[in-house]
Amino acid sequence: MQKLDLVRENLYLGDICAAAEILKNGSAEISHLLTVFHCPSISVFEEWRNVKLDSKQIKEMYVGDDDQDDSLQGKEFATESALPSGNLLYSLEHTGKDLKFTRMVVFAYDQEWENLLDLFDICLDFIDAGRKEKGVLVHCFAGQSRSASMVIAYLMRTEKLSREEALASLRQSAQASPNLGFLKQLDLFERMNFKVDRSSAIYKYFRLKALGYLYSKDKKFDRLKLRADPDVSNDESSGGSTYHCKKCRRILLFQEHVIDHTPGEADSEFDDMFKNMIGDVHNKNPGDQNQCTSIFVEPINWMNTVEDVVSEGKLLCPTCKAKVGSFDWSGSYCSCGSKIVPAFQLQMGRVDVITVKDDVKKRKKNKHDKKII
Ligand SMILES: [Zn+2]
Ligand SMILES: [Zn+2]
Repeated sequence: MQKLDLVRENLYLGDICAAAEILKNGSAEISHLLTVFHCPSISVFEEWRNVKLDSKQIKEMYVGDDDQDDSLQGKEFATESALPSGNLLYSLEHTGKDLKFTRMVVFAYDQEWENLLDLFDICLDFIDAGRKEKGVLVHCFAGQSRSASMVIAYLMRTEKLSREEALASLRQSAQASPNLGFLKQLDLFERMNFKVDRSSAIYKYFRLKALGYLYSKDKKFDRLKLRADPDVSNDESSGGSTYHCKKCRRILLFQEHVIDHTPGEADSEFDDMFKNMIGDVHNKNPGDQNQCTSIFVEPINWMNTVEDVVSEGKLLCPTCKAKVGSFDWSGSYCSCGSKIVPAFQLQMGRVDVITVKDDVKKRKKNKHDKKII
């Protein structure tokens, strides 16, 4: 049995057997293949149709590779995306009959925790290019979950459809049943207006959870995911408050590093994606829901106590060494009863918050003072 469905003009969704047949026999309709699979090698087709295929690699990209041709792939992508740095991002090759096909492979398991979101831009651009040339087949193993999710994201972006509309539209021409984690990521894609907006609050929350999940699986911490230290970087705050050490006034973070939580609510936004995370409990402390004595933030480059193998510890001001908070990969509670996993937590009693408005007022006041003098 093979599954091959025409979804839109020049756009097909299929399974691994359909892909193998097309590569072996050639195709008048298809020039490009997008393989969304956990095995990047061309040899995977041998197992399914006993097909031997030649291939000639065009390039292989790893997360964090510096490549001047491709603004998506540099160090910035490694820092900003939620994909582990050093992992294979995609490979590109000529393959199939007479090496006439262009195939892109992205590495993905059909698992709820798998990060497809950070692959959307790359894959959807490839689908666009393929459709313009001749035709593109998007496939995974069964053509139901991984590849279907890519096609849904593509329909969302090109036709400005909601996730539900795109899924319903796809189901008119093909079977599709993305896993719950992929559906969640398609929802995020919709919430970010069909582009992966790595500066949005919801993406930052996703990145934090992905980081925590990775840590809970491998006890590995990817230092590239630390946000730049606002005291030493040239980054400007995008507005809002700045947070300072109460003792020595050193700047610790900008408002955009804060992961907002709803007082008293469980941290359940990503339950469909990241199951069985360490510390993944939703029991609430009977806290005071009106009073948050902590903020939770993204990990920042001055948090030197955040080391491999250590799963919890103090967060110290890098200048005066005063304790400003704590971190715990298995999460911790705010006084309001919310638990955030993983937790990089600052105690509000140990930091000063300066809002931009205060700052402007202060400066104006200073000017005024000077005039009086
Ligand atoms: Zn300090
Ligand atoms: Zn709270």
